[in-house]
Amino acid sequence: MQFEYTKTNYFKVAGEEEKKAAFGYAEGYKNFLFSSKTERGAVATAVKLCEERGYKPYMFGDKVKAGDKLYFVNRDKNIFVIKIGTNNIGKCGMKIMAAHVDSPRLDLKPNPLFEEAGLAFLKTHYYGGIKKYQWPTIALALTGVVVLRGGKRVEVNVGDDENDPIFYITDLLPHLAQEQVEKTMSKAISGESLNAIVGSIPDGEEEKEGVKAAVLKLLNAKYGMTEIDFQTSELCFVPAGKPRDVGFDRALISAYGHDDKVCAYPELTALFESDGKDTVMAIFADKEETGSDGVTGMQSRVILDIIDNISQSLGANPTLVRYNSKCISADVCSAFDPEYASVYEKRNASFIGCGMSVTKYHGARGKNSTNDASAEMVGYVRDALEDAGVVYQTGELGRIDIGGGGTVAKYIANLGIDTLDAGVPVLSMHAPYEIISKADLYSMHKAMLAFCNKH
Ligand SMILES: [Zn+2]
Repeated sequence: MQFEYTKTNYFKVAGEEEKKAAFGYAEGYKNFLFSSKTERGAVATAVKLCEERGYKPYMFGDKVKAGDKLYFVNRDKNIFVIKIGTNNIGKCGMKIMAAHVDSPRLDLKPNPLFEEAGLAFLKTHYYGGIKKYQWPTIALALTGVVVLRGGKRVEVNVGDDENDPIFYITDLLPHLAQEQVEKTMSKAISGESLNAIVGSIPDGEEEKEGVKAAVLKLLNAKYGMTEIDFQTSELCFVPAGKPRDVGFDRALISAYGHDDKVCAYPELTALFESDGKDTVMAIFADKEETGSDGVTGMQSRVILDIIDNISQSLGANPTLVRYNSKCISADVCSAFDPEYASVYEKRNASFIGCGMSVTKYHGARGKNSTNDASAEMVGYVRDALEDAGVVYQTGELGRIDIGGGGTVAKYIANLGIDTLDAGVPVLSMHAPYEIISKADLYSMHKAMLAFCNKH
């Protein structure tokens, strides 16, 4: 009988086979992540993975039955993958896993293109919580869609292929930065200064703004667009490049957008592997980084409509289904960073390499604005994890009253569904390149699978 609780480092207890499995799993994740820099990318990649496994598109009103493998794409930015189980959905409810697939980035403004001093720029409006000083002088890719007059949609993706050009936001040389470096971090780089260079060759025929004219000609030749079409586009700058292993032992991964694709991917792989008894639903949500509003965010009633439609088609009362359902709000948490130890409370922090982390509550100023999961719900998930031998840990965001945060958990809980936050610990969260551990990623997959398969 062990009376004391201590955290477990995954690599201390994992055998060679287990470690190999974790590293192998990480390769699939890296591929997924590279093609999923925005919510649109993640949804398209999820559809591909679903179709390879025989999943079929679902539409409201469709008749469903046990064994059906379905996915519903909500306006290309939000997907619900559903595996209908053999268990009575009214009695057993659904197992829901909800992650988000949008990440902080630099969206283009509606009128973004301008020329100054022989350089053409695109103006941006940042999306989500960023530290602005992190975005100048890194390689950026431009990705998204442009809707032309008449509705034709053109995809743009420049900067991730090795042969592509990249885009670049300048910063001031240190020699002339005496005033700049005196400023606070939040003031030194302003939102309005996050303009990326996109061209520098003037069009010989134009007398004024020749570089801008030349860029427009290039855009027209490649995408058939003109300047006004920026107004009907969703384009954004994201950090360019592939996920890379970190450290001599290669146990960590540095990449853009771990938050929250590092939980979205395990949701999907767990659903694919789940035993088919309970009905399982994996959600990739949009707009979490800006408050989960809008038609593709978790506050949209699309989730209710899905549960209602599926329940009714199976002959169950939707209210009863929701009441008996359980949800893991699968989102990342902050990993303890020894360089910034003072913002954490060590006994309740999550550590890199100690497995996925269960977070009972988020919020700020005395647990305001959070889903604080019940002891019963945490106990249910704990049993699932321990029965399956998952290495996991339990923590909270950071020291009391030093900040705060939230996830989609409360929006799902507000629908009357028992919900618990759990996810992968991240270092440098919301930075252009974040870090996670392959151990925690694999632990997340196993945890999601254990949750789906607990009866
Ligand atoms: Zn997140």
